[in-house]
Amino acid sequence: MIGLPMNVPAPGLPARVRIHEVGARDGLQNEKTAVPTEVKAEFVHRLAAAGLSTIEATSFVHPKWVPQLADAEQLFPLLADVDAALPVLVPNERGLDRALALGATRIAVFGSATETFASRNLNRTVAESLAMFEPVVARARQGGAHVRGYLSMCFGDPWEGAVPVHQVVSVAKALLDLGCDELSLGDTIGVATPGHVQALLSALNEAGVPTDRVGVHFHDTYGQALSNTLAALQHGVTTVDASAGGLGGCPYAKSATGNLATEDLVWMLDGLGIETGVDLAALTATSVWMAERLGRPSPSRTVRALSHKE
Ligand code: MG
Repeated sequence: MIGLPMNVPAPGLPARVRIHEVGARDGLQNEKTAVPTEVKAEFVHRLAAAGLSTIEATSFVHPKWVPQLADAEQLFPLLADVDAALPVLVPNERGLDRALALGATRIAVFGSATETFASRNLNRTVAESLAMFEPVVARARQGGAHVRGYLSMCFGDPWEGAVPVHQVVSVAKALLDLGCDELSLGDTIGVATPGHVQALLSALNEAGVPTDRVGVHFHDTYGQALSNTLAALQHGVTTVDASAGGLGGCPYAKSATGNLATEDLVWMLDGLGIETGVDLAALTATSVWMAERLGRPSPSRTVRALSHKE
């Protein structure tokens, strides 16, 4: 049984990648099974022990919209001793107040590159949602918090089809102009392919957005997440979002496969000799443990391969 990939570096790639782990937030909010608060706390502790340095912990949205994460107030204090950055999602000023009251130092807002998704997910136009984020980002930064701007539907939208690159660039620039420290470009329905990824990154550069302010968030719905990640790394991206065990199906494609699995990503990066700080065996054990809690096997190929018993 091979437990680690062979290490064969390739030219033109970064020496180190920071993985932004989203399993506890983006993963669990899209799982049907609600997970007890203590299990979530143990999950985050185990992810940190496996070497993940940025772990998105929860979301301060109204519990009516995301009941899976309704325990944010109870969970966050249980993470005080976690040795990792713990960003939390906040949808508006009310969510920001709740997060800051608990001592959150990194927040994320969640924007859309398309009008249809903004309307369906945020109940606002793109312009109205940016106006809603403006005081959130300003107040978070006044308080010294780091702000990440998620941008969803950057490649395709289930209602609008292909999303023009210039449209994504325009909203991305607007989020940075509000004061976001970094962007996460989301392929929410997993339809991107590598040329499209590089075209968007180049267009952002041409519009004055440096690659070091951009992370990528790929979904594996059509099996393209790692190809797209490699294309982004070749362009110079060094922040990659992934979800332990591939937690979180794709809510818009009714597919079992959504988020790129962190183990699949680490397998590729380990093979390329790119540093992540992550212990693949410890991470896989964590995802196997969480899969047992959820009562369904992890969709990650790497988790399945490494946990397969003869
Ligand atoms: Mg996702």
